[in-house]
Parts: sequence; structure tokens; C-alpha cells
Amino acid sequence: MSRAISNLQIDSARLWGAIHETAKFGATPKGGVRRLTLSQEDKQVRDWFRKACEDAGLEVHVDALGSQFGLRKGRDMSKLPVGIGSHLDTQPTGGKYDGILGTLGALEVIRTLNDAGIETDAPICIANWTNEEGSRFAPAMMASAAYVGDFTVDDILSRKDADGVTVSEALDAIGYRGETKVGTQKFSGFIELHIEQGPILEAEGKTIGVVDSGQGVLWYDGKITGFESHAGTTPMPLRRDALLTLSEIALALEQIALKLGPNAVATMGEAVIKSPSRNVIPGEIAFTMDCRSKDAAIMDAIDRELRAAAAGIAARRKVDVTLDLVWRKPPTNFNPKLVDAVENAASVLGYSHRRITSGAGHDACNLNTIMPAAMVFVPCKDGISHNELEDATQADCAAGANVLMHTVLALAGVAS
Ligand SMILES: [Zn+2]
Repeated sequence: MSRAISNLQIDSARLWGAIHETAKFGATPKGGVRRLTLSQEDKQVRDWFRKACEDAGLEVHVDALGSQFGLRKGRDMSKLPVGIGSHLDTQPTGGKYDGILGTLGALEVIRTLNDAGIETDAPICIANWTNEEGSRFAPAMMASAAYVGDFTVDDILSRKDADGVTVSEALDAIGYRGETKVGTQKFSGFIELHIEQGPILEAEGKTIGVVDSGQGVLWYDGKITGFESHAGTTPMPLRRDALLTLSEIALALEQIALKLGPNAVATMGEAVIKSPSRNVIPGEIAFTMDCRSKDAAIMDAIDRELRAAAAGIAARRKVDVTLDLVWRKPPTNFNPKLVDAVENAASVLGYSHRRITSGAGHDACNLNTIMPAAMVFVPCKDGISHNELEDATQADCAAGANVLMHTVLALAGVAS
């Protein structure tokens, strides 16, 4: 690579401007963004993004689930494009950076290459994936999941939001049911830039996270069936209390995660007492659990120990406990060649960096199941995300986009 290219930097002010300009679509009073997928606000940001892609000379197309793609031609069009991008939808009280940095960072890479007159050997394709967040429609990351074949497109189109509106209807309502079949846009590999959404980079004073793995996930639906009885007349030893059982299971879950840690986290996020009443011993409780690890063997151990603990507690308390594993997502091991390319770009650019595991799910984790993928993380303030307070510095955002650009240049090759 020539010296001019190896010193090439993205336009930090332009990237920062794009992040803040689009933040007005769904801006909240506390400085965050509410831009649920396929909403009117999402349409506004999609229209903005499409125009920006067209202005940058990209060939834009939209697939049947609304994901947007912008293709920049390379010298050798027989080669598959290198994919970069993320998502522009947010949580109901989301921030300005989650997903947005990766999508607008990808746009900024294209704008910078255009300004510098650089032609790559392979094409580059930037992407905005529909519904990464999963707050309006389940599952999260649904478009990339359908892209890799985890769900059929018809299945996803029929999913409903809380008001009974289907994905299909929502796409039509904003004019984003595209012509292209899902999966048509192929990539040689995919790199996603994202804020860390955790506290590690900030705590260690590192600018770049070279993401080499993503946690696997276990989701359980649980039910405890004890026996409802009078709070005043039932002696303590005779009770079959669902809530006390739940309490023991919650603490057992914590102990299991601590014992198998540091690469294990476990959460009981929901618990609902059926027909609760002040003077009735709870008889039935539904609950959910979310357990994660980057290590498949640890995931198996969590499952084993959790079931054993729940069975023991249930027997002692003479209640029934059922645990249904409703989702098992294996851990992600990102492609070593792409991870090395990210690490090398960070080193050459002189940014402090470390290898890191993604605690959250991302479209890149889905894509990694059928193509080489990797991610670039930058720090976010206090590790806060999915919150209007989400914050990142202009310098860190620019650093991430620079690493993204130099990774892409290495993978796509520069035409001579
Ligand atoms: Zn995200």
C-alpha cells in the first residue's frame, strides 16, 4: 500500500455531523433516540441514508425484509464485495450510537475513499439491517437471521408487534418492502463497527476492541407450581411456596454463574406470580432466565447445574419446576483472518487495542455462521447502552471508522 493510502483518515467532523444529524429522527427530550424498526422515524432515517448512498455514487437496493444495501463498484467485479455496516433502528429509549456508528461509519468509509479517488480491487457493500433491536418485533436481528437461513422470510413477515401489525404490513406502510430476494446480496466477508456497550475498554483506557468472539445464549421459560393456601392458617413446614422456590432458584443461578465465571453471566429477568394476593401463599410463578458464555462447554455446564439445582430445590420444597430451553444460540468465534485484519489495522494506525468478547448479540454474529465476519468495538461512556444516556467521544468514533476503513482496504485490496 502506498504511503498516501496507509495514512488515509476518515473525516471525523463529517462522521460526527452525520451521527448528530440523523439523531433528530426520533430524538427524545433526554438526548436519546426512539426509532423503532419500520416506524415513521425509521422511514425518515432510511430515506436520509438512501439519499446519502446515492449521493456517494452507490448502487442502492432493498431486500424483501427492508434491509438496505449500497454497492461501491470495484475494479474486479467478479469478486464478491466486502460488507460493512450495522443498523439504524433503536430501542424505545435508545441512544445515538448503538448500530448508528457502524452504519454511518460505513458510509463515511465510502465518502473518504471517494474523496481520495481510491478504487478498490473488490467491491464494497454497505448495509443497514432491519430490526436489529427486536423491541418492536421478535426476534432481534431478524433480517440477518433470515439472511443466513435461521428463519424463513415468510415466518419473519408474519411476526406481529404489540398492536398486531405484522412485519409485512409495517414494511408496506413505510414503503420499504424491497424487490431483492433476501440473501441475494452476497459478501466475501462482513465487518461491523459498534460501540462496546460494556465497560471494559473504557476501564482499561483502550481505544479499539478487536472482537474475536461473541457470547452464546441460553434462554429459559420456567414455571413453578406449588400450592396456594391461606397466609394465616398454613403452618410454615406445610407450605409449598412458589415464591420461596423462585428465590432459591434465583440465588442458585447466581452461584452457578459465579462458580463458572468469569466467562459466564446469568440473569433472571422476569417473574410473574399468578393471581397475587397479600394473604395467599404464592402457588404459581412463571419466570425467564438468560444465561451467556463465550464457551460452549461452560454453556453446557450451566444447563446441567441449573437443572440439577432446580430439581433439588423442587424436591425439597415439594413443588413442580419446569425449565424449557426456548433458545440456544451457540457462541460466535469470529473468523481469525478477519480478526487479524482488524487487529493489524488498529496497530498500524497506532491505536491502543485489546481482544474482546461481545457480550451482546449483533448482526455480524448471525452473518458469521455463513461467511467470515468480525467486529470493531470502541468505548462508550460508563459502558451504558440501550439508554438515552448512551455516549461516545468523537475521537473514539473516528478511530473506529479508521480501523474499519483500513480493514476494508486490506480485505478488498487497492487497485493499482
Ligand atoms: Zn446494535
